[in-house]
Amino acid sequence: MLYRPYGRTGVSVSLLGFGGMRFGAINNREKSVAMMLEAARAGVTYFDTAPDYFGTRSEETFGDAFREMRRLGLPYLSATKTFKSTERDIRTELEAQLARLGVPAIDFYHAWCITSLEGWAGRKRDGLITTFRKLKEEGLVRHLCVSSHLIGDEIRELLMEGVFEGVLFGYSAYNFHAREKAFEAIAAKNLGCAVMNPLGGGLIPQNPDLFSFLKSREDETVAQAALRFLFSDTRISTVLVGFSAVEQLRECLAAVERFTPMTPGEIAGIKAKLGERFLELCTGCGYCDDCPQGIPIPKLMDAYNHKRLYGRDTALTERLAWHWNVSPEEAAKCTACGQCEEACTQHLPIISRMEEIAAMKPHAKS
Ligand code: SF4
Ligand code: SF4
Repeated sequence: MLYRPYGRTGVSVSLLGFGGMRFGAINNREKSVAMMLEAARAGVTYFDTAPDYFGTRSEETFGDAFREMRRLGLPYLSATKTFKSTERDIRTELEAQLARLGVPAIDFYHAWCITSLEGWAGRKRDGLITTFRKLKEEGLVRHLCVSSHLIGDEIRELLMEGVFEGVLFGYSAYNFHAREKAFEAIAAKNLGCAVMNPLGGGLIPQNPDLFSFLKSREDETVAQAALRFLFSDTRISTVLVGFSAVEQLRECLAAVERFTPMTPGEIAGIKAKLGERFLELCTGCGYCDDCPQGIPIPKLMDAYNHKRLYGRDTALTERLAWHWNVSPEEAAKCTACGQCEEACTQHLPIISRMEEIAAMKPHAKS
């Protein structure tokens, strides 16, 4: 395993981090814990979860795994998050999280999912910053962090406020443009940097032909190449992968073991090949999945990815028919209320995509 400094904290973290939002067998605690222990034995130390991944089951699974890691003498660092903003709510949530995780303090505690500067201003008005600082003084959290879906100048502005010691945001070989400016603040404030969704929520490994241009070695898979692209960026402290199965964990561990940095020429070559179709892709995070009209937005947006990637409408309608069994007519229910666009972690124009999809003819199954 390779390790990198987490900003100015003095803590080193494993370059490959374990994300707890995609367990394939969350109800099989033994299996999920075994996967976490395999990661820890291979040297993974950064373990990231949240209070709402599979309800509270991800944090509970982490708690069981951490107990085993302590028994086995395996080092680990805990990372989790809170949506809450008032002192009373944050304290109540943190108390429950410490109990679920079975730890006396959280190593990296994140203000979770900042999607707009207005929303961040509201959390500040509620007293989040003062509360976070008190919790650190009391030793209940060790490092103050933020998980943000802001892009461009906004994420830089948030980080330059100097509140946080580290940041977590989505970053991959195809969407790095949107968050490039975050690195200016990360360097200026010497922040730790964890990136999530490095494989586009599965989009990269599920489309190996389309993403084959990421590979510059014969002995790597497209997922390993996508990770190598990120590992080569020394501004990143840890790359979080949400593993649904142990085979994925092993594939990613192999990417670290065999890591050789990409040359500047290789990186420039990849960036040059990223045309229009690789931009503005849905990562399947599901944050928009609460449509008042009951529209299955993530499924429709996943199908829209196929239209962009393959450059034809039928790729979308085929995906809806064969993979999701959803009609494009579903999109016509959209009232343009805007709720999903407000929640979208990738700032995608969901309403106009719903209009486009609604105008398409369903794929005729033969
Ligand atoms: S804008 Fe349309 S798709 Fe989005 S939440 Fe509102 S009704 Fe649903
Ligand atoms: S449309 Fe946006 S919020 Fe919804 S699943 Fe895709 S990336 Fe996530």
